[in-house]
Amino acid sequence: MRFAGKTAVVTGAASGIGKATCLRLAEEGATVIAADIDEEGGSELAATSNGKIFFKRTDVCNVAEIKALMDFAAEKTGGIDIVFNNAGAAGDRAPIDEIEPEGWDRTMDLLLRSVAMGIRYAVPHMKGRKGASIVNTASIAALGAGYSPSAYAVAKVGVLHLSKMAAAELAKFDIRVNAICPGFIKTNIFASALEVPADQRDAANAVIYEVANAAQPVKGGGNPEDIASMVAYLASSEARFITGTHMVVDGGITIGPRHSW
Ligand code: NAD
Repeated sequence: MRFAGKTAVVTGAASGIGKATCLRLAEEGATVIAADIDEEGGSELAATSNGKIFFKRTDVCNVAEIKALMDFAAEKTGGIDIVFNNAGAAGDRAPIDEIEPEGWDRTMDLLLRSVAMGIRYAVPHMKGRKGASIVNTASIAALGAGYSPSAYAVAKVGVLHLSKMAAAELAKFDIRVNAICPGFIKTNIFASALEVPADQRDAANAVIYEVANAAQPVKGGGNPEDIASMVAYLASSEARFITGTHMVVDGGITIGPRHSW
């Protein structure tokens, strides 16, 4: 019960990594404010949580809605201790020589401005809380070429540096800020990006995870719970000396291929 009496805000909470993290933080005692554009998924999560998880419909591309989310969390519980800025999707997948400016901007709004504004509007409610922690979802796409199209990767690089800058600027308020770089994690993100019909999602996912699995030193694939564990660690007092950095949770895929000679 590391988070008893604490309030956590989680975005992208209706599915995948966000959902697993809501469940993990609630299991360890937190009151969780779960935010997503998926009203059905978010409401279902809240309904089965024994009053530990509250859903607030929020589009993280809409700054007014992010502010309303943070204000709602603080009004409901008295303040915010943990923020997991996690909502996301693949964004515009066009290569750099084809992408339209609108697609670029939309991807930045979804994946980078959302995190900046999540921090911006949470912090007034985090000041004075002991050991507050912000965790942002970046990606291994921020660590090297080859894992995603340009816009997504650049936005996630932004999340890494934003996490460093925010850590430096917010340390005086006793707020730590870190990022996580997940590798290939079994969620809806790839099937959504490929826009495959619902009944073909599992098959589309299976192909992607098979390719990833072949390249990962740790076999069996990454699950949302693997990321939730890292969020819980970074949010806890066990990580009190960790700020302004990123944790890679990828089964070793970024080690790269091994060449024997
Ligand atoms: P997911 O599709 O299972 O979950 C993403 C959630 O974000 C969904 O519930 C979706 O409705 C929500 N969302 C999308 N746009 C939103 C918006 N504008 N406002 C609010 N909510 C919105 O995917 P996931 O894999 O759990 O993705 C979570 C985060 O992890 C994303 O930031 C993604 O970029 C990152 N990530 C995922 C992987 C992976 O392999 N799954 C790897 C690296 C990074």
